[in-house]
Amino acid sequence: MRMTKRAALVLALIGLAALGRPAAAAADEDGEVISVAKRDFEAARLGRLRLDLLMEKDGRIYLVASPGEMAALAALRVAATVETPRLLQAAGQGLSAAGGINGAYHSTLELETDLRLLERDHPGLASVREIGESLEKRKIYALKISDNAASDEGEPAVLFLGCHHAREWISVEVPFLFGRYLLENYAGSQEVRDLVDASEIWIVPIVNPDGLEYSIHVYRYWRKNRRANADGTFGVDVNRNYGFAWGFDNNGSSGFPGSDIYRGTAPFSEPETSAVRGLFLGRDFRALISFHSFSQDILFPWGYTTDPAPGDAGLDAIAGTMAGLMAGVRGTVYAYGQASRLLYLTNGDTADWAYSVAEAPSYTIELPPVDVDHGGFFNDETAIGAIFDENRPAMLYLTRYAVDHPLPRRRPLPVRRERGRPPAASKPTIIPRPAPGPVR
Ligand SMILES: [Zn+2]
Repeated sequence: MRMTKRAALVLALIGLAALGRPAAAAADEDGEVISVAKRDFEAARLGRLRLDLLMEKDGRIYLVASPGEMAALAALRVAATVETPRLLQAAGQGLSAAGGINGAYHSTLELETDLRLLERDHPGLASVREIGESLEKRKIYALKISDNAASDEGEPAVLFLGCHHAREWISVEVPFLFGRYLLENYAGSQEVRDLVDASEIWIVPIVNPDGLEYSIHVYRYWRKNRRANADGTFGVDVNRNYGFAWGFDNNGSSGFPGSDIYRGTAPFSEPETSAVRGLFLGRDFRALISFHSFSQDILFPWGYTTDPAPGDAGLDAIAGTMAGLMAGVRGTVYAYGQASRLLYLTNGDTADWAYSVAEAPSYTIELPPVDVDHGGFFNDETAIGAIFDENRPAMLYLTRYAVDHPLPRRRPLPVRRERGRPPAASKPTIIPRPAPGPVR
C-alpha cells in the first residue's frame, strides 16, 4: 500500500511541471515529503523504523511520512522539515525532480551514456557490449577494458559486477568508477598499463536495470528484479537465481514469490542471471567481485553451507590482503570471511556459482556503511568517491592476482546434498555476527 501512495506522490512531483497542475494536486492526503538532518536520523536510530526513504542530499535525508510517522518523529523529538511545497515549487519552475531524484547516482540511461562516452574517449581500450536484456527490455551492458578491446584475445579475464539488488545504488558506482580509473590512467600509470595490456577487465555496473529504475522512480527500497510472479507478486532475487546449490534450503533463499529472497522458478530463470552466465562461461575468468551494500564485508564461498569450500585458505588469504589494502586508504574496516558464517546463508548466489564452475576467486563485497544506523542502503553522494578510492587498491590487487594465477581446470564442483546438516564438529565454533536490518 505504501508503495502505491509513494509512487503517486513522487510521480506527481516529477510530473507537475509538465502538466502545469496546481501544487495542491500533488499533496497526497496520506503523506508528505519531509527531510531530517542525517545526524538526527542516526542519533535517533530512525533506520530501524523502515521509513519510506527517498534520497539523501546535503546532509539531509528525504522521506515520505504519513501523519502517524510524523507524530512518531515528533515524539522522538526529531526535527523534520516538510519539503512538499518546496519541491512542488521547484517542479513548477521547471526544476523537475526527474534529473535529480537519483542525484549523482546512475540511472540505467545515464550509465549507458557514460559507458558510451568512455568508449568514445578511449578508442582501442574500451568496448561497450550488450550482454543481455532485462525483462522490461532494458539492455544489460558490459564495459570491456583491454588493449585491443574490440577483439577478444583470450587473455585472463576478471569480472566486476554491480547492482544485482536495486536499492544498493553505491554498488553501481564502484565498478563504474574502476573502469573510468583504468581508462583515464592507462597513459600515465605503468601499473595500470601493464594490467590492462595483460588482461580483459569486464565491468557490468547494472545487472538488474529494471529493479534499479523501480527503486529510483517508485520505491527506493526495492531489491529484486521486476518479474511478474504467478501469484501476483513481483520480483525474483537475482542473487539467489544462479545455478549452483539453487534452492539448497529455505534459509539461504525462499520459494515464496513475495519474499525478498525469492529464488525464482528454476536456476537461471531470469534474463539478468542468464546474461552473466553467458558472459562468464565464454571466457577465461579468473576472479570476480560482485558489489553489494551494506555492512563492509568481503565474503567468499560458500554461502550455501557453513562447510568450507575447497581452497578456502586461499580465498581467505586473498580477502585478508584486500581488507588490509582497503583499510590502508582511510581506515575503513571491512570484515572478511566465509559468506555463510560472516553474514548469513545464501544459496544460488553469484560468487558460489562462479567458484563452482571455475574455482576462480569469487567475492561479494558489501560496501559501506557498516550498519543501518549509519544509513543502510543510503550513501551520501559526496561519499561515492571515497568509497571507490578505498576499494580501488583491492580491485587492482585482485586483477593482478588473476593475471598471475591460472586456474586449475577441474570439473565443476559438486553440491553437498545433505540438507539441514549441522557444521562438522571438528571445525571451530564461529558465533555468527548479528546481522540486523534487511537482507543485502
Ligand atoms: Zn545485495
